[in-house]
Amino acid sequence: MKVNRCRVCKQSQLFEILNYGKVVLADAFLDHTNEFDTEEKYPLALCICNNCGHLQIDEEIDPEVLFRNYIYVTGVSDAVFKHAEHLYNSVTSLLQNPSGEVLKIYEPASNDGTILNVFKQKGCDVLGIEPATNIAKIANERNISTINEFFSEKTAKKLLKYSGSADVCIARNVLAHVCELHGFVKGLGLVLKKNGIGIVEVPHALNMYKQLQYDQVFHEHISYFTVLVLQRLFEMHNLKIFHVEEVSIHGGSVRIFFQRDEADREIRSSVERAIQEEKVLGLDSVDAWKEFAKKVSTQKELLLKELKKIKSEGKKIAVYGASGKGQSLLQFCEIGKQYIDFVVDKSPMKHGKFTPGTHIPVYSTTEIMKCKPDVILLCAWNFAEEIYSQQSEYINQGGRLLHPIPVPHYL
Ligand SMILES: [Zn+2]
Repeated sequence: MKVNRCRVCKQSQLFEILNYGKVVLADAFLDHTNEFDTEEKYPLALCICNNCGHLQIDEEIDPEVLFRNYIYVTGVSDAVFKHAEHLYNSVTSLLQNPSGEVLKIYEPASNDGTILNVFKQKGCDVLGIEPATNIAKIANERNISTINEFFSEKTAKKLLKYSGSADVCIARNVLAHVCELHGFVKGLGLVLKKNGIGIVEVPHALNMYKQLQYDQVFHEHISYFTVLVLQRLFEMHNLKIFHVEEVSIHGGSVRIFFQRDEADREIRSSVERAIQEEKVLGLDSVDAWKEFAKKVSTQKELLLKELKKIKSEGKKIAVYGASGKGQSLLQFCEIGKQYIDFVVDKSPMKHGKFTPGTHIPVYSTTEIMKCKPDVILLCAWNFAEEIYSQQSEYINQGGRLLHPIPVPHYL
């Protein structure tokens, strides 16, 4: 469904920055070759609101289609464990809980419970709220209490009634997926104790801009946030951002800490600093993003040129990473089986399937040493360091890793 009104300010002033054409949903992996001809495609375009500067796509897919049976499982990546530890330390230092009370933690979109598990092991009382039925089941089997629902104002009211309010409410990598932003943010405020802490993590539009991460754009990602816009949105619901941290996960995310208006923590300088950096780059302006679009088309040309060159030498190319990002890049650049022999991914749930739109087979990462492709296109560039060290044997034997952005280069 085409959307004309901005999801933050509700004005009809969306301006198109980059058109991706009609693409298959980035998580719609196929089981059989006979499904190739019947894939459903949807229009995709990145837009900016001329009124409030909010970046978003102008298409909306039913969340029931996107998230009820989701295949991203948090626990698969090693980096996520370290990330959870860091998050726990940040929270406990900010909360100052001298009486040592058991902290109550809520996590909307808790996935398989990996993050909550870290908090639980440290003695917290945890509850996950996860819309994907298959993944909520995995979390419950791991003894992480999880209710199978989308988080919203309505869910927040239910939580308050049955479980009470929370000391900490964490929403990692979910706000960007939410159609009804206002209901979600209002709900976050509702479940917090008077002096509770809310944490939201989203891929930062600043990094998307600086590193040309146009592959962050796919239907699951509805919004692309700056701190500037987050502050406007949270203020509409009587919530104050009091601290901002940059985190390296997902290609550079921003983590905001917020509280209810009546809470008494002072606003740290990190908030103003983050907003100033965005203003200097003009991230709420159409002009900055027009420049972004121009650079993207140059990057696409360079990448295709490099892949053509490798193929013309009769060499083999594989892709590392069957994430949403990877599918966005492959579909946007129209990179299919004419260039890529196979895709590898750490998630066993994707093995044996075919990539959406581009129909490349997906295997386990062990396939790398079996088939020894000459070049691996690194679509999971956000885990570049981890992959580089894991594939040292491949690299020592002459294998090369091609990092696609901001300009294609070898590691
Ligand atoms: Zn707007």
